[in-house]
Parts: sequence; C-alpha cells; structure tokens
Amino acid sequence: MNLKRSLELIEKYGKCEQCGNENISNGEGTLNIDGDVFERTCKCGWKVTVRPATEEEKKRAEEMKVIFADTPKGGLMEPWKAT
Ligand SMILES: [Zn+2]
Repeated sequence: MNLKRSLELIEKYGKCEQCGNENISNGEGTLNIDGDVFERTCKCGWKVTVRPATEEEKKRAEEMKVIFADTPKGGLMEPWKAT
C-alpha cells in the first residue's frame, strides 16, 4: 500500500465511527497495515477492513454496476481502488 493511500485511510478511519475514539494505544484500539490490507479496530467493537477486491468480486461489481461493499463483523469493506 502506498503512503498516500495509507494516509487517506487513516484520515478516513482514524476516528472510530461508533464512539469517536481516536486512540490506538493502551488497548484503545488497533491500526494495522499489512501489505494491501488496512485494518482499524476500536475497543468499542467497531472495526473496519479495507482490502483489495478479489478478481471475482471485481467481475461481479462490473456486471452488476454496483460499488462492491461487504460488511463482516459490522465493519465496512470497500473495494480496493486501483491507481
Ligand atoms: Zn469505538
């Protein structure tokens, strides 16, 4: 994941959408970037994962003319936007 994309995601998801917590230390929450996968969790249970869409998902999104979105564990999953 490039720096610009990482910063965009941190900007967007740095603050918990559920309780407003912005901390990621001392058990307050976590922020993980592993390759192309971005994950932010909060102590309140909120979680967001942004990861690349699989080939199948990309194909399906194209066919259905929809923006792919999935919601595991109440989090938001958005398609990876190729740059
Ligand atoms: Zn929270």
